[in-house]
Amino acid sequence: MYLSKNPYRPIRTEVLAVIEETPTIKTLRLKPEESISFETGQFVEMTVPGVGEFPFTPSSRPFEKETLDVSVMKVGKVTEKIHNLKTGDVVGLRGPFGTGYPIEDFKGKEILVVGDGCGFAPLRSLMYEFFHRSGEFKKLLFRGGCRTPQ
Ligand SMILES: Cc1cc2nc3c(=O)[nH]c(=O)nc-3n(C[C@H](O)[C@H](O)[C@H](O)COP(=O)(O)OP(=O)(O)OC[C@H]3O[C@@H](n4cnc5c(N)ncnc54)[C@H](O)[C@@H]3O)c2cc1C
Repeated sequence: MYLSKNPYRPIRTEVLAVIEETPTIKTLRLKPEESISFETGQFVEMTVPGVGEFPFTPSSRPFEKETLDVSVMKVGKVTEKIHNLKTGDVVGLRGPFGTGYPIEDFKGKEILVVGDGCGFAPLRSLMYEFFHRSGEFKKLLFRGGCRTPQ
């Protein structure tokens, strides 16, 4: 499990890109001033200055150290502000928190990953981990559901 030196101190983080995934989900590519290492499944807290803080599980490759992605569904006050962020804006990130998926337990096994909606966010990161270490697993199946085709 990764732990940062001080998980209570937000790290200044620049929004590098905003990708529109669906009408209600956007992915933000973020570049923290200090790199934040995480295991797939761990989560981070994002602060939008003057608005608030919310937890998310990075959806990017866990072995990418310079940047991380967050895929956010617009459901309320903070996530609406996050959807309004633009390239060059600055937010705070702290963490990681929680424990990652028990990847070692999956070795040599057939794996079925099931998810939907913004529940895909942590599973995207998990799938990157599986692709990265594909020789270690017997078979990988992915099934996903969505409310609408969009
Ligand atoms: C560990 C963890 C990881 C997460 N990872 C992700 C992620 O990767 N991506 C992601 O999109 N989300 C993720 N979430 C969820 C995300 O944190 C929440 O969606 C977000 O905090 C909501 O904040 P908000 O201010 O936008 O919404 P809020 O304004 O708090 O609203 C949230 C919901 O509550 C309803 N609501 C608000 N007030 C009331 C009220 N008075 N009465 C009834 N209903 C009300 C809203 O309509 C909305 O549906 C994660 C959560 C946790 C705990």
